[in-house]
Amino acid sequence: MASAINRIGVLTSGGDAPGMNAAIRAVARASAVAGVQCLGIRRGYNGLINGDVTELTPDSVGGLTRRGGTMLYTARSPEFMTPEGQKKAVSTCRYLGLDGIVAIGGDGTFRGALDLSAHGVAVVGVPGTIDNDIACTHYSIGFDTACNTAIDCIDKLSDTMQSHERCSVVEVMGRRAGHLALYVGIAVGATAVLVPEREVDFERDVVEKIRRSRIQGRNHFIIIVAEGCIRATDVGRRIQEEIGLDPRVTILGHIQRGGRPTARDRVTASRMGVFAVETLAAGRTNRVVCIVNGEMRDFDINEALSMHKDLQDSMYNTAVTLTTG
Ligand code: ATP
Repeated sequence: MASAINRIGVLTSGGDAPGMNAAIRAVARASAVAGVQCLGIRRGYNGLINGDVTELTPDSVGGLTRRGGTMLYTARSPEFMTPEGQKKAVSTCRYLGLDGIVAIGGDGTFRGALDLSAHGVAVVGVPGTIDNDIACTHYSIGFDTACNTAIDCIDKLSDTMQSHERCSVVEVMGRRAGHLALYVGIAVGATAVLVPEREVDFERDVVEKIRRSRIQGRNHFIIIVAEGCIRATDVGRRIQEEIGLDPRVTILGHIQRGGRPTARDRVTASRMGVFAVETLAAGRTNRVVCIVNGEMRDFDINEALSMHKDLQDSMYNTAVTLTTG
């Protein structure tokens, strides 16, 4: 691959997601193949402001695919959201001689990349978020591992809930998106699934489903709640008040962000990392790497950010059917 670029930087920003390390490794290895030097920028946009970098060689990224988290650390950088912060970041890019940046993260990270691009820095975004809420791509790095982690935890909870004939309310991550809750809810055989994209009618969506389930002879119930939908503790309290059960509320929290990435996350992250370098090397900038029907694509960042991703109707209807029957 002949390339007009000599040196690029890669950073991870926003919430971490399992598979980010595989993407970093792929960026470093693909850079080496293209004859491009690769610098790892630590702590997201803070590292770009402060010049906090380390060279990534094919050797230094060895063994990364199986590691969760991100070896470059991640951060939320309020300073980068100011004109002064961005000016500093752009001068760091110039000082380091960076011909492009690969920014791995969610939509906030892409908004930051867009600002860099407005200052003439070539950027390519790679979707890494367990929320899977980036509209232009069918898949974002980390979603599969987070689903499997949540399922594993809930399966364990279900064992004890079944033994005690109890009701369990489990909050999973997803401030604005219910993809994780929906997948997990279907996978664990939940009694009800509550997501931020759909209005909650407590009587219809929780009380009635538990009642129906009880009439059919079931004696333990799992309610999955996406964190941005309704507070799990409120759901627990209302179940107690309105049905008389004594539910246990579990908030899975940050455990969902960790762990060894699944095959899907390792492979997708690797493909996206390689494709990001190929995109920059081809002189394409201001792009987001996507996977659409299993194929790699890239979208304009502006276009990508203006798109909206709703829950897949067929997926939601599957959950409705399975929690009604
Ligand atoms: P997650 O989906 O896990 O929340 P994210 O990438 O959306 O990931 P954010 O915290 O929204 O996470 O954004 C990460 C960082 O990107 C911010 O801390 C900030 O430095 C930068 N950023 C976010 N929004 C903007 C913006 N509008 N302009 C410039 N930079 C931004």
